[in-house]
Amino acid sequence: MPIVSMRQLLDEAAKGGYGVGAFNVNDMEQIQAIMAAAVETKSPVIMQASRGARSFAQDRYLFHLMLAANELNPGIPMAFHQDHGNSFETCKSAIELGFTSVMMDGSLREDGKTPSTFEENVEVTRRVVEFAHSRGITVEGEIGVLGGVEDGHGAGGSGLEHVTDPDQAVEFAERTGVDALAIAIGTSHGAYKFNKKPDGSVLKMNILIEIHKRLPHTHLVMHGSSSVPKDLQAIVNQYGGKLKETWGVPIEEIQLGIRNGVRKINVDTDNRLAITGAIRKVFWETPEKFDPRDYLKPAREAMAKVVAERMREFGQAGHAGDYAPIPIAEMAKGYESGALDTRPSLAGAR
Ligand SMILES: [Zn+2]
Repeated sequence: MPIVSMRQLLDEAAKGGYGVGAFNVNDMEQIQAIMAAAVETKSPVIMQASRGARSFAQDRYLFHLMLAANELNPGIPMAFHQDHGNSFETCKSAIELGFTSVMMDGSLREDGKTPSTFEENVEVTRRVVEFAHSRGITVEGEIGVLGGVEDGHGAGGSGLEHVTDPDQAVEFAERTGVDALAIAIGTSHGAYKFNKKPDGSVLKMNILIEIHKRLPHTHLVMHGSSSVPKDLQAIVNQYGGKLKETWGVPIEEIQLGIRNGVRKINVDTDNRLAITGAIRKVFWETPEKFDPRDYLKPAREAMAKVVAERMREFGQAGHAGDYAPIPIAEMAKGYESGALDTRPSLAGAR
């Protein structure tokens, strides 16, 4: 199966009423872990690479590893996505590399740290949409600013400083035509999201629900949505790690989001914790070992277990065989004709 457009994958998720996990990759073992979980649960896959990942692995290595995953698993629909593009150039280079989807995170300036103005965000995102859609490629935008810093990207803070304003979200969708929209509802990147189990004072699910009501044709994206389970934290600390106590986004809140328009859920921290815990365990229990396979294999298995769990919890399990891929060139025609237009003033009229 050719690599599919993320838009198609999310449209199918909307029809089926489920969400799709977007898992970050940096190396071969992470890619293999996702594919093992997808095969086990018969799930469609969104594989995403940050700028940090692209520079860590180098574009050609990373892209060809992802292609290998696609070649070896012809029955699994897969989209390759640029996570947090910081500029038009970053998004363009991802599209030229062969990715089928890009995130233009115009909520921050090109430095990836300073919050931008609304007009700056609209301008750069609109430009990316124009370039991407004419090539059949999906675009995710961001309105509002998430908390935390990951891979050097982020404004820091708790996630409550720049919560998305629903009026702005509607105007942003109208003026940019993005396929998917990341919103800030109090979540943060990284392991330290909340200092207690989050309630409505720090996790604003009511805002998400309001945005979905007003933007029913735009797929919503939850970032910073690892659940940071206690058992994964405990394994890391049991074998010499020093994680401070922390809380992630509870699965039931993500599932509430999925019932209200969330189609893509970004998960990275949980996988990092699973990998690190598994490696620490091997080092701690068998310090005489020095073959990388002795710790990379359990690390890969630990990540596959977490990914498979999330695929079941998000509801994407069992949906890999539901649809045939729409060629990317067909998607480009759909954008050109207006059939794929998500702008509230046009999509509502169809
Ligand atoms: Zn993110």
